[in-house]
Amino acid sequence: MFEANSRSFDESDTGKNPLPVTISTHAQEQWQARMVADISLKTAWERGLSVRAPEADCTSARLYPPCDALIVVKHTTVTTVLHNDGRLETPGLIECSDCGDLIDPVEDDCPWCGATAAETVTPGRVTISRGGI
Ligand SMILES: [Zn+2]
Repeated sequence: MFEANSRSFDESDTGKNPLPVTISTHAQEQWQARMVADISLKTAWERGLSVRAPEADCTSARLYPPCDALIVVKHTTVTTVLHNDGRLETPGLIECSDCGDLIDPVEDDCPWCGATAAETVTPGRVTISRGGI
């Protein structure tokens, strides 16, 4: 028998609970230098989608699709902000049929363009399947 031991990465990485993160000065500078956004890095983090960035040196990461910004976190500190180069794992996320940005299928509306998701889950009959199409 063996126990699945590979969930340790997931625990801090899933869900929408707002983790208390610290934003490093470097990350703040990168955000301002690299991203054209009228929101703060903190807001982008809060709205961002949890993704896995195996190429980045991080414990968790979030993608902010409107800027294609990859927000890199080590433990509880945002260490840097990168342009998403596509080397991400985005389990459970789908592309909005309207704007093409990644969204969480649990959301009814696209948080980025406001479009109603094509495959909206019918209220009362929650049949969300995660992973694989
Ligand atoms: Zn959209």
